[in-house]
Amino acid sequence: MISLVFFVSFAMSARSQVPLPEPRPAVLPSPSPVDGNKAPAKQLFGGKKLPAALKPRAIGFYSKGCMAGGRPLAIDGPAWQVMRLSRNRNWGHPALIETLEKLAAKVKSGTKWPGLLVGDLAQPRGGPMLTGHASHQIGLDADVWLNPMPKRIFTAREREEVSAKTMANAKFTDVGGNWSPEHLKVIRYAATMPGVERVLVNPVIKKALCREAEGDRSWLAKVRPYWGHDYHMHIRIGCPAGSGSCQPQAPISGEEECGKPLDDWLKRVRKPDVPPPPPKVKPKPKPPLLLSALPAECRAVLDAPDAKVAKTKAAAGVVPAADPDDQATTPDPTGQDTPVPPMPQ
Ligand SMILES: [Zn+2]
Repeated sequence: MISLVFFVSFAMSARSQVPLPEPRPAVLPSPSPVDGNKAPAKQLFGGKKLPAALKPRAIGFYSKGCMAGGRPLAIDGPAWQVMRLSRNRNWGHPALIETLEKLAAKVKSGTKWPGLLVGDLAQPRGGPMLTGHASHQIGLDADVWLNPMPKRIFTAREREEVSAKTMANAKFTDVGGNWSPEHLKVIRYAATMPGVERVLVNPVIKKALCREAEGDRSWLAKVRPYWGHDYHMHIRIGCPAGSGSCQPQAPISGEEECGKPLDDWLKRVRKPDVPPPPPKVKPKPKPPLLLSALPAECRAVLDAPDAKVAKTKAAAGVVPAADPDDQATTPDPTGQDTPVPPMPQ
């Protein structure tokens, strides 16, 4: 009897040692680039150092697309300097590059500014970015700082560390001490460039423009109030010729829109006297855009060989600094917990 008990307990313990099936990993490995359509598009496009050797084309929508045949904006031009070189985002459709070059020349000759400080355009092949920006994906968007270029050339480190200056006052009720009549001229030049469809600025800047613009005010229609954009303006050009699969944004009304729509925006961005309590439940981050969500042509853009591009000044080894002009990594300046609409106005 005792031996039977021993036998049973031995058999049971032996059975318990039968290897169990391998436990499933708690976190599934992230898809590798070869998983193609399932991969977050920002990883695939963020990894490309050079543009696709293809004819220049803007493909898809400003916030869902990519770019073939991107060109670099030179890091130093006769009237501009590119900032944040470590990001490698000085790429755009040739139409955007040409627009910026001409705008910088106008600013130099027509205002007291020696030129422009240029922030992010797009990645070499456009597409979603690892950090910042919902748009800037098809090579037709550019951020231009609202403080003037200095007369001297910035070092690579300064281009990472120098901060843009806000044009807003502390309460975000109007522009503050950094605003000047030159700013109106610079923004007017941007809004009246051929091909420019929108210039996004903070509502307090639009308020100042509405108050100060004299003569022909038709350009005010293109200057759109939006969150952030108190440190830089965002210039957006329309779909260029030869970009058949570029999806245009809905046209603007053509009105100045200095009245009610602007007042509504000003209410949204004004800093409250008492800061609101932090949200109890953190808003869930949006799932990343997958390659499958982008136009099919973006796959060919990723697969295309690197274009041969003349070497520009590299910024290797420079650590990128936290950046106040980067809307997506900066808390909403109002401190309000208002959801940010996904697409600029
Ligand atoms: Zn922008």
